[in-house]
Amino acid sequence: MSLTLDEPDTFASLADCALEQMPYPVVVLDRDLRLRLANAAARERLDAVAMGEDPCPPFDAVLARSGRIPADVRLRILSCCGAEVRGRNTRGRHDAVFSLSPGHTIALFARRLGPDRWMVVLEDRHRAAGPGGEAEESHRDRLTGIGNRHHIEKQLAAALCDDDPDSQPAILVFDIDRFRSINDHLGRNGGDALLRAVAGRLRHATRDADQLARLEGDQFAVLQHNGQSADHLAARLVDLLNRPYLVRGEVVTSGISLGVARAPGDGATASELLHHADLARREAKDAGGHAWRRFGQSMADRARSRLDLESDLRKALALGQLSLAYQPKVNLRTRAVTGFEALARWTHPKRGMVPPALFIPVAEDIRLIASIGDWALRTACQEAAAWPEPLTVAVNVSARQLDDGQHFLTQVAVSLRESGLPARRLELEITESALTRRPDEARALLRDLHEMGVRIAIDDFGTGYSSLGQLRTFPFDSIKIDRSFVSSLDSDHDSGALVRAIATLGSGLGMTVIAEGVETRNQARMVEADGCTDIQGFLIGRPVPAAEVRALLARNMSDLLDA
Ligand code: C2E
Ligand code: MG
Ligand code: MG
Repeated sequence: MSLTLDEPDTFASLADCALEQMPYPVVVLDRDLRLRLANAAARERLDAVAMGEDPCPPFDAVLARSGRIPADVRLRILSCCGAEVRGRNTRGRHDAVFSLSPGHTIALFARRLGPDRWMVVLEDRHRAAGPGGEAEESHRDRLTGIGNRHHIEKQLAAALCDDDPDSQPAILVFDIDRFRSINDHLGRNGGDALLRAVAGRLRHATRDADQLARLEGDQFAVLQHNGQSADHLAARLVDLLNRPYLVRGEVVTSGISLGVARAPGDGATASELLHHADLARREAKDAGGHAWRRFGQSMADRARSRLDLESDLRKALALGQLSLAYQPKVNLRTRAVTGFEALARWTHPKRGMVPPALFIPVAEDIRLIASIGDWALRTACQEAAAWPEPLTVAVNVSARQLDDGQHFLTQVAVSLRESGLPARRLELEITESALTRRPDEARALLRDLHEMGVRIAIDDFGTGYSSLGQLRTFPFDSIKIDRSFVSSLDSDHDSGALVRAIATLGSGLGMTVIAEGVETRNQARMVEADGCTDIQGFLIGRPVPAAEVRALLARNMSDLLDA
């Protein structure tokens, strides 16, 4: 089988030489898994004795006789090649990695050469073990002691090679609900302790044969070699891991969101299965968490359209597709417009008008909200500077914008300076949830803004968990009562009591109390009787483009409210 360069310099003979000189064992198998060709490295690795006298020995026998590869790995290599040769794998290629010992793996690459010829390359991979046993370390998550992403990907790839249709693997991926805020609350060490507790409970909940890993952050994975009972395990994990934890003397209640993908239906490769399990996890999370979902093709379709939306949104600012619409607010005592709330609008040539409730959360996820927020602030200040004194403009601020407080402060100062708008005519609307994440940082930032003269409003009040008492520690000038309370005023007595309580407290603290989403005169009368000072809603006016603000100012609000 050996070749030298004395032969004619044709492509075929050069290819033969190259194959022969390759430092990796390369073999060609036929349909019966017999060895048709072995290059020098393969002959050396499998050794001549193992090759025997037979010109086309069975690959199985050669591997067995070489004695270099443990029986279980040998069987899995053969099962991989078997799947290839018998055409069960129609892609014509198959890659897998088998672990022989810590730090020593064999990578297998199988490629179809023709109708009944397969090339198999086996590559030994050694990772030098350093003083701390680096080879093993590279597969282990230091924090929790279970495997890492690297480990699970390899194990999954190897499991996929198994020829037995009854033992197709499943991968389960989960993360901890609200981990970010729990981590903020417990501090870094407390967060780490929770992750270790989760890993510990995971060990107890699974079988020894199941492979465990922390993929990153608060994301974990479980590989089941036989995935038939994966749904059962998923339900059990959600139940077990949702139970409270004791972390540094504190009871922490959280849950997990988990996704399951099973071979072969849910994916053919390790990365595809992991990705699909992750999509299923996200669906469980979007449904409110504390839940698990099995991957389905519709999830992949939704993920695709979400990616398209993200890509369009990234271009929207540069293409000038974003604009601001302005919705008036009216003072109930004077019946006059006091100012407008700026609301982002995205007009896409094909999608049409995309509502902010849909694209703002996407912008937050893909960290585009800072640029959109900067743009909204600048544009609102510039457009409002042309309105008559003392009309105010209110700009919505996302929680994520508060994460980089220094940048935000600078943006506010620059927007005011460049537009010439006095600080007292700018109001920033912050939702309750933005304050609960890192209350101390948020409080300090809001105080700085307040000192600059900017007004601060708490938006959608009543939808979060903050208590009325907490309100006092923040420098709020206004409270905006969420429109869900206003819309249920007619039907629900509790809503009325809540609106009254918020209005009494807010007015007592000298704040403006705005009822959002007022659509009818009856609602306006009720919120006025309950003590709200201002209203906003379709009754007064829908959000309009900047060019229509002046026309709206000319309208007589008393007609709308009192007729
Ligand atoms: P929000 O700040 O609470 O704004 C009020 C929302 O209620 C607006 O929806 C407004 O059009 C709608 N609305 C006002 N009056 C009525 C009414 O009488 N009935 C009903 N059914 N709805 C009414 P929009 O414009 O779709 O905005 C939705 C949310 O998107 C906003 O809620 C705000 O949280 C967010 N948003 C909008 N623009 C921006 C922005 O520039 N930055 C950030 N961070 N968020 C924004
Ligand atoms: Mg708002
Ligand atoms: Mg609101």
